[in-house]
Amino acid sequence: MSEKPLTFIKRDDLLPICPHCEKELTEVHTRSKGFPIAHGTNVVYFCPHCRKVIGFGQGRML
Ligand SMILES: [Zn+2]
Repeated sequence: MSEKPLTFIKRDDLLPICPHCEKELTEVHTRSKGFPIAHGTNVVYFCPHCRKVIGFGQGRML
């Protein structure tokens, strides 16, 4: 546990990489409600290349 606050740095020049297939993510696919393993979350984020789930969200992403 660190006392140091997390710093957010906007880097539009860097592409995130999928932790599963290690391809660059130029976009992230999302799926809303009804995903059977995602109770309590509204949105599922997944890789467009391998379709593995990257994370869950509350559906406030614009
Ligand atoms: Zn992937």
